[in-house]
Amino acid sequence: MANVKTALITGITGQDGSYLTELLLEKGYAVHGIVRPTNDFSRSRIEHLRRDEKIYGKRLFLHNGDLGDTATLRRIFREVDPAEFYHFAGQTHVGLSFEKPESTYDEAGMALLRLLEIVRNQSPTAKFFHASTAEIFGNASESPQTEETPMRPVSPYGCAKAFATMLARVYRQSYGLFVCNGILYNHESPRRGESFVTRKIARAAARISRGLDSELLLGNLDSKRDWGRAQDYVAAMWLMLQHDTADDYIVATGEARSVREFVEAAFAVVDLPWKKYEKQDPAFQRPIDPAHLVGNPDKIRKTLGWKPSGSFEQLVREMVEAELAALRSLDV
Ligand code: NAP
Repeated sequence: MANVKTALITGITGQDGSYLTELLLEKGYAVHGIVRPTNDFSRSRIEHLRRDEKIYGKRLFLHNGDLGDTATLRRIFREVDPAEFYHFAGQTHVGLSFEKPESTYDEAGMALLRLLEIVRNQSPTAKFFHASTAEIFGNASESPQTEETPMRPVSPYGCAKAFATMLARVYRQSYGLFVCNGILYNHESPRRGESFVTRKIARAAARISRGLDSELLLGNLDSKRDWGRAQDYVAAMWLMLQHDTADDYIVATGEARSVREFVEAAFAVVDLPWKKYEKQDPAFQRPIDPAHLVGNPDKIRKTLGWKPSGSFEQLVREMVEAELAALRSLDV
């Protein structure tokens, strides 16, 4: 395929992988994804693309591969020869990283080292995006955070991503690779994993409004996050790889909202009094919850012209309405 740009994505079946795939296909790319051999596609977020005969096998290709299997990753890189590489795969849940610290470290930290080495050795011209996270700032020394804020992670996930973020910088500086860290603040959508608090709240509001559930169990309601829309964040990642030089960018809205505000907004969509249904469950309290995670997106705004679209209330509405539509499609 002459003049068609080729992208390779790990974690293509996840929230960001699926939105990025749609964006790249719209832009005319050939998209290759690495998937776990055990993946159950029937529930995957790219199933609609996989079933599309005009796309699957023609402009979208999937390769079985494990993040720990260097030989297979090498072969995929050799066969695909990507111009752009986006790395998303791995365990992404902060709370779960306390239960599975070792595998989280391997997936969120060591896997990046393997991939950087492969790119350095066999695809040195490929542009490389690493999905870093606000969790590297943990108990942040300043608020809002910038690209210069010191890393002070407070979870195994945050530690693994801090290691990976620094390693990406080292490979950029030492070997001249085009590697960008997108320091991503929380971004949500109807495709967010079901164990994440925003999706859980949206789902509960919808189900309670249909009489299918009667309560919503939550941890700290005062916990605050800078929540944006996933579709905007994948556009930011793509912009980073189109720029002349590789760099690190905070991707955030600049506005922190509490879990309580998310619950209020979600139950407002279905016109129910949230206090009647919300119950506290100590199991959802984190050992240490990062305080004041809010990002300053000035650099990406000024350098790449990126800005988030839509409001917090629109994001919450979109998520609750998607849950209601899913229930309607099941006839409940
Ligand atoms: P996600 O929806 O949880 O998707 C994770 C992807 O990784 C899925 O495709 C999953 O595949 C794959 N995966 C999980 N464990 C794996 C393993 N051991 N080996 C290979 N693949 C594995 O995550 P996301 O929200 O799209 O996030 C994308 C990236 O951004 C992640 O690196 C995350 O850490 C980072 N990030 C996300 C946010 C956010 O708010 N969403 C914020 C900061 C940073 P299966 O389908 O097989 O499970």
